[in-house]
Amino acid sequence: MALFDSLIRTARRRSPWLFHLNAGSCNGCDIELVACLGPRFDVEQLGIRLEGSPRHADIIVVSGPVTRTTRPAVETIYAQVPDPKVVVALGSCPASCNVFAGSPTIEGPLDRVIPVDVYVPGCPPRPDAIIAGIAEAIGILVSGRSAHERLTQRRAEEPAADGRGRRPGANAPRSGHPDGAP
Ligand code: SF4
Repeated sequence: MALFDSLIRTARRRSPWLFHLNAGSCNGCDIELVACLGPRFDVEQLGIRLEGSPRHADIIVVSGPVTRTTRPAVETIYAQVPDPKVVVALGSCPASCNVFAGSPTIEGPLDRVIPVDVYVPGCPPRPDAIIAGIAEAIGILVSGRSAHERLTQRRAEEPAADGRGRRPGANAPRSGHPDGAP
């Protein structure tokens, strides 16, 4: 069993499979992700490849803010990816809703729907930033810690909630770019 686990860990490190999930993006981030697979950046040479089924994926790359329409699909797909799954938020939209903040059709930033492990800022982020984010995700993936364990640790490290269960800054406006751009 230990040998089997070791083989799985090696396979994940050397050839992580990505599932791309568009939760409501303008397609700008999606085009940059596709550019990573093109001949210039060619991440498949590094063993990183897109997978069509969430059940076979290791890393979920989410673009766009979560809309009312896509929320059920986001939750379902997250549940279908086997542990230890890692979530990468691609661009400013899943981090802050960006230009879509305040729209009645937006459910909110991605971390209100599923746990997020890596943020790749930018509108859209450049392919080299996306590749760096995926490399960070691979590091988390090979640690072998489940999504639940990582979430529990993150919550333990957050500031304590007040008497009504709210954490400092939890209601702060989330519009704008996480990288500081207006
Ligand atoms: S971050 Fe920018 S490019 Fe990416 S989906 Fe949002 S608006 Fe489009």
